[in-house]
Amino acid sequence: MTRDALADAAARLDAADPLAALRDAFVGAQTPLVYFDGNSLGRPLRVTAAHLATFVEEAWGGRLIRGWDETWMQLPFTLGDRLGAAVLGAAPGQTVVGDSTTVLLYKLVRAAFDAQQAADPARVELVVDRDNFPTDRFVVEGIAAERGGRVRWIEVDPDRGVDAESLAASIGPATAVVVLSHVAYRSGYLADAGALTALAHRAGAMVVWDLCHSAGAVPVDLDAWNADLAVGCTYKYLGGGPGSPAFAYVAERHQRSLAQPIQGWMGAADVFAMGPEYRPADGMRRYVSGTPPIVGMLPMLDMLALLETHGIDAVRAKSVALTEFAIRVADEILARAGVTVASPRDAAERGGHVTLSHPSMREVTARLWRDDVLPDYREPGGLRIGLSPLSTSFAETLAGLRAVASALAAVGTASAGRAT
Ligand SMILES: *Cc1c(COP(=O)(O)O)cnc(C)c1O
Repeated sequence: MTRDALADAAARLDAADPLAALRDAFVGAQTPLVYFDGNSLGRPLRVTAAHLATFVEEAWGGRLIRGWDETWMQLPFTLGDRLGAAVLGAAPGQTVVGDSTTVLLYKLVRAAFDAQQAADPARVELVVDRDNFPTDRFVVEGIAAERGGRVRWIEVDPDRGVDAESLAASIGPATAVVVLSHVAYRSGYLADAGALTALAHRAGAMVVWDLCHSAGAVPVDLDAWNADLAVGCTYKYLGGGPGSPAFAYVAERHQRSLAQPIQGWMGAADVFAMGPEYRPADGMRRYVSGTPPIVGMLPMLDMLALLETHGIDAVRAKSVALTEFAIRVADEILARAGVTVASPRDAAERGGHVTLSHPSMREVTARLWRDDVLPDYREPGGLRIGLSPLSTSFAETLAGLRAVASALAAVGTASAGRAT
């Protein structure tokens, strides 16, 4: 009798998983393909195809232009409020859906920078960490150049992220705005957002949180953190589909005092007045610029319904169990091939993905993709194992990591062959 302790463990974990049955609700989860990239693009839900068809026939095709008055004008806000309640810890009236994360980041960081400058011209610094996602760094650099500000870089350990010590060393009376990721896209480091927000506030700074890698996998508590501003993707853990619109949060206390830079007719106080000048709406509408991308908002409604039913705490519990199991498997079968875990080992400091490092991971990723095992690769040498909690099983996780071991062995053999 052969005993496979890891396969037994995976089977036990799947049998005990209260969310296991949800996997069947996703397109493709029934095939042997291993999906480790739900943190870049979540799998679609099977019900979404029918919902999109109904939308074309009945809402778009049937209601036509009346659809705007009936539901679409409000959808960015009603959907925002549902996201706020289910996954963001935000009371109603503070969240809107539209644009991309990059564009919303630009609007909010610039609005915050301008407000801080107006209140105190000595606040010229935009603070961001060297390992933040490229768009966050690029937007901050662009705003600094455009507004005569200065970028202050936080140096971080790339296997971790920004903590209280590194933030405290980078903020002070010159700080205008701090831009931070809740979960670091590379290492998966989960920041203590409440504590970092309080620290920044004590220095007189405003904080913009990027929630792309946490929303839908890790509990977010914007109101409890006393957050100022936040943005995030919906095509990652929120299942919105390729290029689905992002969300923005503006704390109620800031809404009327911030002026976002892309003023358009859809953010005006009276949208259909077609008046001679721009007067921004009160509340979240002022953060809208142009016509909202309604079609792009539809698939995430199905994922949101699941999150509302099961609750983010159950999703987080599954996510922690998946990443713990992935680290255990990596330690048992990949460490001897020289693979290291480049993510925090303490679950309280880790989001929904685990990064495994090895100099050959670029080649390993190319092999895995050919074999229908889909992680992603991030320089330098990082294999990102994204474990979307609702659509990933423990058996799938084990199968994928065993494929990593085989690919590493094959790459090693191939390069040894070349050397001789
Ligand atoms: C995925 C991601 C983005 C993406 O921004 P887009 O405008 O949707 O391309 C931004 N920030 C972080 C931290 C991300 O992980």
